[in-house]
Amino acid sequence: MNLNEKIRKATTHISQNEGLIFEKSSPGKKAYKLPPLDVPEVDAAQLLGKQAREDLGQMPEVSEIEIIRHYTRISTWNYAVDHGMYPLGSCTMKYNPRVNEAVARLTGLAEAHPYQPERISQGALRILKMLSEQLIEITGMDAITLQPAAGAHGELTGILLVRAYLESQGNPRKKVLIPDSAHGTNPATAAICGYAVENLKSNAAGMVDIASLVAQVNEDVAALMLTNPNTLGVFEQEIHKIAEVLHAKGALLYMDGANMNALVGKVRPGDFGADVMHLNLHKTFSTPHGGGGPGSGPVACKKILEPFLPTPVVVTKPDGTLGFDYNRPQSIGRVRMFYGNFGMHVRALAYIMANGPDGLRQTTEDAVLNSNYIRKKLEGVYDLPYKTPTMHEVVFSDRLQAPKGIKTGDIAKRLIDYGFHPYTVSFPLVVHGALMIEPTESESKESLDLFIEAMKDIAEEVEEHPEIVLEAPHNTRISRLDETMAARKPILRWKPQSEATGK
Ligand SMILES: *Cc1c(COP(=O)(O)O)cnc(C)c1O
Repeated sequence: MNLNEKIRKATTHISQNEGLIFEKSSPGKKAYKLPPLDVPEVDAAQLLGKQAREDLGQMPEVSEIEIIRHYTRISTWNYAVDHGMYPLGSCTMKYNPRVNEAVARLTGLAEAHPYQPERISQGALRILKMLSEQLIEITGMDAITLQPAAGAHGELTGILLVRAYLESQGNPRKKVLIPDSAHGTNPATAAICGYAVENLKSNAAGMVDIASLVAQVNEDVAALMLTNPNTLGVFEQEIHKIAEVLHAKGALLYMDGANMNALVGKVRPGDFGADVMHLNLHKTFSTPHGGGGPGSGPVACKKILEPFLPTPVVVTKPDGTLGFDYNRPQSIGRVRMFYGNFGMHVRALAYIMANGPDGLRQTTEDAVLNSNYIRKKLEGVYDLPYKTPTMHEVVFSDRLQAPKGIKTGDIAKRLIDYGFHPYTVSFPLVVHGALMIEPTESESKESLDLFIEAMKDIAEEVEEHPEIVLEAPHNTRISRLDETMAARKPILRWKPQSEATGK
C-alpha cells in the first residue's frame, strides 16, 4: 500500500464510521435509565384507549453516547457562519452576536406565553414597541408591522397593503412592474396577490432604465417592486425620479429591503420615496438565518398604508399601559399567528441597541468597504460585467473561465475545498454565469485575504488543471451530487433499513 492509498483508507474508514452511525441500533439498547416503578403497572391501551399505539414502529435503539455522538457529529457536517466566511450574496450571512442570544434567553422573554394577559406582558409589549420605533427611524417610514415571518412573507404583506389601499381608492389595478435583476420572490409575490408581472429592463449601468419606466407606467400599474441597492449591488441613483414617475400615475413604490445592510444609518428609503418595504431581520439585523429556523420580515410603510396593517397593533392605552388594538376595520387581517417571531424581535432589538446609531453606521461602512476590497482584488482575475460602483456585494461572471469549460457552479464547489461557503451561484439572472459575493462587515482583513487568495488559486487551477475544479469538491464527505436526482428524489430523512429497502 503506498502512502496515498493509506491516506485514502483512513478517510474511507471515517466515512464508513459516520455513515454507519445511522444504523447503530441493536435491540435492548437504551439512552435512559428510569428508577424502579413504584406505582401499579397499567396497560397503555387501558390508559389511552384507542389512542394507544399498537405498533411502536422501528425506533432506533441506541445508547446515550451513541446518540450524543450521532447528533454532535452531524452538527459538524453543516457549514455555518460560526465556522467561517459565508459570502452568500443577497443573503447577508453576518455573524449573530452572542449578546442577542443571552437577551433572548432571559426567562421572562423566552418563556412568555402568547396568551398571557397584557397586564403581565408589559415588558414584551415594550420590546415590540421599541423595535417598531427603531425600525421606523432607520427606514424613514411612518408605521410598521412585525408580524411577517420572513422576507418573502413581508413582500406578500406589503403588496396586500398596496392592493387594499388601491381597492379603497376604487381600483386595485392590474400590474406590478419588476426589474429583470429582481429576486425570484418578487414576481412570485405579485402573482400570488393577483397581479400580472411586467418585466422592466435595466440599462447598461445595471439600473432601472427611466425611459422604459416612463413608457411602462400607466393607470394599470399598482406598484414597482425594487430592490435598492439592487441585486447587482448597485445603488439606484435615480430612485427619487423613479418614485416621482410612479406617484404621478398613482402607483406605489415597494422596496425590497433585503439589501438594507448597505444603507442603514446612511440613507432612509422613506426619504427617497419608497411607500412600503420589508426588512429581513435575519439578514440586516443579525438574527439567525436559514436551516428552516424562524426568520422575521417586518413591513414598514407610509401613512397612507397604515390603516391596512395587520392586526393586532401595539398601542398605548388611556391608562398609559401597552396593549393590543384589534379594532382596525380596514386591516388586511392577520398574516401570522400571534405577533410574529418574537424571539427574533428580541434579538434584533438587542443588536440595534448594542450597536447604537454610530455602530450601525460603521457596520454599513464596513460591509461596503469589505465588498469593494474583494472587488478590487479580484477584478481582472474574474470578469466584472458591470463597471458601476457597487455597495455591499459584488457580482462577477465566469466569462474568463468559460473557455476552459468551467462554470460558476464549478468554482463554487472548489471554494468548498478551501474551507469557504460558496458565494451565490448564477444569480442575478441578468449576469450570465454570475458569482455574487457578499462578505458582510463580520470579516476581518485576514479572512478577506484568505478568501481572495483562494479565489485566485482557483482561477489558476482553471488554467492549469481544470479537472481539479470540474470534479470538486474533493475534501468533503461526499463529492458532487447528482443534482437532478437530489432534486427529483431527495432523501430527506433517515428510515429504518427495512423501510428504505422495501423489505
Ligand atoms: C433574501 C431575499 C428575499 C427573501 O427573503 P426571505 O427571508 O428569504 O424570504 C427577497 N429579496 C431579496 C433581494 C433577498 O435577498
